[in-house]
Amino acid sequence: MQLRDRLREFVTHCMGRLSSAIETPLEDIRMLEGGKFIVQSQTNGRNYTLSFQNKNLPSCECKDWKKNHWPCKHFIAVLINYEEWGWNSLPATYTENPYFTLDPSVVKTTANQEENRTTVKETSFPEP
Ligand SMILES: [Zn+2]
Repeated sequence: MQLRDRLREFVTHCMGRLSSAIETPLEDIRMLEGGKFIVQSQTNGRNYTLSFQNKNLPSCECKDWKKNHWPCKHFIAVLINYEEWGWNSLPATYTENPYFTLDPSVVKTTANQEENRTTVKETSFPEP
């Protein structure tokens, strides 16, 4: 039940950001090397750098991403505009987490220790 609730919340979260993502014109997205993108915000004109693979985890500079590490409108804008950069381009450490509630301390640990995948799985995947 908890998982289902999480997933529904997750879908609602993404849907809520979809309209702003759709409004982001392609010319406001700049692709860099290595799965990095710069997306210009449609609301404040700021540029946010996001990365699909930042030491096993995706990342974006915006507050929305930092809050819960769920896809922000910048990520969604890239996902819908670039066929070759889809959900499957995100690290499995991230996409395989059914709870989508990565504890910031775990994320921090992972960023510092690249070989720490097992630990992340153990701590983020409670037994059903
Ligand atoms: Zn963002």
